[in-house]
Amino acid sequence: MNDNVEVLVVGGGQAGLAMSEHLGNAGIGHLVLERDRIAEKWRTGRWDSLVANGPAWHDRFPTMEIEGADPDGFASKDQMAHYFETFAKQIEAPIRTGVEVLSVERRTDGPGFRVETSDGTIDAQFVVAATGPFQNPSIPPILPSDTGIHQLHSSDYHNPGQLPDGNVLVVGAGSSGVQIADELRRSGRQVYLSVGPHDRPPRSYRDRDFCWWLGVLGLWDMETPPHGAEHVTIAVSGAGGGRTVDFRALAQSGITLVGRTASYQDGVLRFASDLADNIRGGDANMLALMDAADAYIERNRLDLPPEPEARALLPDPECITHPLSELDLADAGITTVLWATGFTTDYSWLKVDALDEQGRPRHRRGVSSEPGVYFLGLPWLSRRGSSFIWGVWHDARFIADQIGIQRSYALYGTS
Ligand SMILES: Cc1cc2nc3c(=O)[nH]c(=O)nc-3n(C[C@H](O)[C@H](O)[C@H](O)COP(=O)(O)OP(=O)(O)OC[C@H]3O[C@@H](n4cnc5c(N)ncnc54)[C@H](O)[C@@H]3O)c2cc1C
Repeated sequence: MNDNVEVLVVGGGQAGLAMSEHLGNAGIGHLVLERDRIAEKWRTGRWDSLVANGPAWHDRFPTMEIEGADPDGFASKDQMAHYFETFAKQIEAPIRTGVEVLSVERRTDGPGFRVETSDGTIDAQFVVAATGPFQNPSIPPILPSDTGIHQLHSSDYHNPGQLPDGNVLVVGAGSSGVQIADELRRSGRQVYLSVGPHDRPPRSYRDRDFCWWLGVLGLWDMETPPHGAEHVTIAVSGAGGGRTVDFRALAQSGITLVGRTASYQDGVLRFASDLADNIRGGDANMLALMDAADAYIERNRLDLPPEPEARALLPDPECITHPLSELDLADAGITTVLWATGFTTDYSWLKVDALDEQGRPRHRRGVSSEPGVYFLGLPWLSRRGSSFIWGVWHDARFIADQIGIQRSYALYGTS
């Protein structure tokens, strides 16, 4: 392959496809390169039983519905992969799969960028990095690898059967951690769940899904938080038809909650004494959203049924009132520690002046500090919704517009 394209889009997940749709609509020539298959993360980077976190009417691109999915239900991961594959066909995305981008450098012999791929060299005027917010699994360096305990990241978890016999500690209580812990407990294992600070919106309130509430309250469109602001994970799930994540109910079902996993020595893991605070922080977040929803209903005179029972909290279980400060892994029969601790980005292939000293993208709304390079799909790229399916579509439209503006200046006087 030896090519010349106007815009090279790196990554064929939802971000790359949304970008392709908007570039196509603007009549801007482009090529999408995907190292695996379209929507690979939805195919192989998620556990078997995963369903979308938002209902099918919401977690999709505005220009195509999810075929065969109940709009108020939660599409399976396979339905999502099929959705993106079908979408690529519908928009006739110019995409080459099985081609990895190895490096992007500014050309020294002309404008634009030289792109080395696993299938040859491409010159591009513009490059969009749409490789996703979740490239490398992140595991905090707490438990050494030579303890004999099986360790894996949530992105490598598929189902309970793949784990060695024995009990499990799941670290991280965002959407992934709570769903996996629940699934492992249902499979008959004794499960410990290490709970850090989190938000836990009600799955639905007064006959509306929380996705709707975040929308009408303008919270999906909340702008990028100030640099360094703490990222708080969201515990929300469409599993089992969609229920509010309730840590006290998880404890009642048999899961032992512990605080943040802090350190390890001589077979013993120690936990921070923050469990009760983290649980109360999650409660406060849930109740605040209900308050805002009530005020919205009142202000707009909406006829939505009151739901006072949604505010009721179960009593604190023993594991919250008398939390474990440490756990001897052998005594507790723990054979697996599963880290649901998130991801980091990897732009090692992007050899231009668009990254800070820590390798983080330097950009404003996806427009990078290196003219001609754009980022897409990152959390809080422009707003809270930026890394989600519908949010990335809107960011892609903005970036297509920005590329269009620069392109028309570049074309001035050339014809
Ligand atoms: C467990 C989990 C559940 C989620 N559930 C939802 C949900 O229900 N609803 C929702 O809106 N969001 C959800 N998200 C968030 C987000 O929508 C997904 O993470 C989504 O996959 C991100 O899409 P993306 O296109 O930005 O990145 P990805 O899907 O990661 O796509 C990036 C693509 O780039 C390719 N790539 C990377 N490097 C290169 C390279 N050098 N050359 C060529 N190709 C490359 C990769 O192979 C990959 O296919 C979830 C995230 C996780 C982790």
